[in-house]
Amino acid sequence: MATDRKQIEEKLDRLDRIRLANLPTPVYRLDRVSAELGKNIWIKRDDFTGAEMSGNKVRKLEFTAAKALKEGADVLITAGGIQSNHARATAAAAARLGLRSHLVLSVESEPRMEGNYLLDRMLGAGITLLDENGGVTLSAKMEEIAGEYRKAGLRPYVIPVGASDGVGNFGYLNAFREILHQEEELGVTFDAVVCAAGSGGTYSGLWLGNRLFGAGKRIVGITVCDNRDYFNGVCSRITKSTLALLEEEPPGDGEFTFIDGYKGRGYALSKPEELRFIADIAAKEGVILDPVYTGKAFYGLYSEVKKGTFDPCGNILFIHTGGQYGLFPKQDQISEAM
Ligand SMILES: *Cc1c(COP(=O)(O)O)cnc(C)c1O
Repeated sequence: MATDRKQIEEKLDRLDRIRLANLPTPVYRLDRVSAELGKNIWIKRDDFTGAEMSGNKVRKLEFTAAKALKEGADVLITAGGIQSNHARATAAAAARLGLRSHLVLSVESEPRMEGNYLLDRMLGAGITLLDENGGVTLSAKMEEIAGEYRKAGLRPYVIPVGASDGVGNFGYLNAFREILHQEEELGVTFDAVVCAAGSGGTYSGLWLGNRLFGAGKRIVGITVCDNRDYFNGVCSRITKSTLALLEEEPPGDGEFTFIDGYKGRGYALSKPEELRFIADIAAKEGVILDPVYTGKAFYGLYSEVKKGTFDPCGNILFIHTGGQYGLFPKQDQISEAM
């Protein structure tokens, strides 16, 4: 790689971006968990990026919304599960920017107005509920709705699930740079950076940052849906697209590292032991993890450290990607599990 760190930073600074997130987010050591595991486990609080726009999706939306505005969009369309954090963050970003939003939310039965879905409604999003078992995909439905807005004389902009595409990827490429600066401030080197993998954009941004900045860390994604093969495909596709936008060469060979085995009963479904673990971490560290992503991913990290998977790493950084509103629709399950 001929391009050095400074040149990459300058390229990142030139990208179209709207400031939506509170950055940088804090990084600190989890003392009780570290003592238990005999390793330094650090946490980066990306759940502190905001309130309505909390979590990892805001970092991506800073770049995605900038592109949409540049193209003259007046409606942001996106999709996700009924409790999608990304959909809620998009609805909040749209309202903040004076745009409309329209969400396609995947459901199997009539949803209760709670958690993120309640907030989506309050944030004024147009909402289409879709049962994917009917054979229509979320993307096809988004395109159909975009067509209707166009017919009505508006300019819709379709954001893929999780904003995980070449542009959204800049969010975590930039977060990786933030981490490098925080290492200097804290006087620590993280040997591994660990996150949940849901639509792949958080992982691929961090992975690409690690390669472009030549940081030599282990970047590990804990899958909370699908599996390793699926994420290898997704991440190689979005990484290529980001590199093309940056006019950078692929930074040599490098493999993605995904760990399967922690999705439990499936995407957004919880097991009592996962919920107990979340309550345990809350009491021990004062950190509330979410049931769909960070609870499973941190449980995965905790279990894998115990198994020795991270043995050469002395300092491990876990990214708390947010999602706490997703706890409330599971209040009964949580109180039963505790
Ligand atoms: C979307 C999401 C993730 C997963 O990030 P991806 O970039 O989609 O892989 C992790 N945590 C939370 C809270 C999320 O909402």
